[in-house]
Amino acid sequence: MSAATDAAPLGLLGGTFDPIHFAHLRLAEEAREALGLPRVRLVPAGQPPHRGEPGSTAEDRLAMTRLAAAGNDGLEVDDGEVRTPQKSYTVPTLERLRAELGPRRPLVLILGADAFEGLPQWHRWQELFSLAHIAVANRPGHAPHARRWPATLSPGLAALCEGRHVSDPAELRAAPAGRIIPFDMTPLAISATLIRDLIGHGHSARYLLPDSVLDYIGANGLYSRNLTGHTSS
Ligand code: ATP
Repeated sequence: MSAATDAAPLGLLGGTFDPIHFAHLRLAEEAREALGLPRVRLVPAGQPPHRGEPGSTAEDRLAMTRLAAAGNDGLEVDDGEVRTPQKSYTVPTLERLRAELGPRRPLVLILGADAFEGLPQWHRWQELFSLAHIAVANRPGHAPHARRWPATLSPGLAALCEGRHVSDPAELRAAPAGRIIPFDMTPLAISATLIRDLIGHGHSARYLLPDSVLDYIGANGLYSRNLTGHTSS
């Protein structure tokens, strides 16, 4: 792949988004600021391969992602994984985006530290760096802070990351792919699991996710058959 680049880097944040919540949105927003990314594309997984069946359908998760991104010009939503019957693997998604955006556009895959440390379980994970840069944020309670690598990484992942580590975001514009950059985000101990559990037990999840998403959950009876909406706390 050519080292020259011809456009601003595009951030990519994939996830099950079951449901999308404020930590996902802060992750995207803080990556935009810290790394100088004009836009971040949210990519909801259709059929996530590494976990059980999501608590809501791919269409619902896509709709919630669109609601969460509404009104922020720095965010866009990619429905490619939801629209395909295949399992959602990141490398084929990156290949599709490369075909769409060309070989020279820097792509920056944004991951929480827990997702990054699990990379060796991903399909064709060794190919990731030929397609995108990787930016990794800290995540409370899940994994050691990203800046403590490589000591905490599995040997295979540490070997793949060798020589790729950068700290200056300008480096992400110097090549279309292949670098790894840790960055700090405001620690937020929010997870979709927590939100599903709260709603499932009839508790309020308000202020953990956008009201528009919570209203959608209530209107569609997601995660709890008895849910009546965020005003029911
Ligand atoms: P679940 O609880 O259902 O496993 P989740 O909240 O971890 O879901 P995902 O959709 O699996 O959300 O995560 C998508 C991406 O967002 C991953 O890279 C994950 O590391 C990151 N992420 C999610 N929540 C946080 C958080 N609180 N802080 C930092 N990163 C996060």
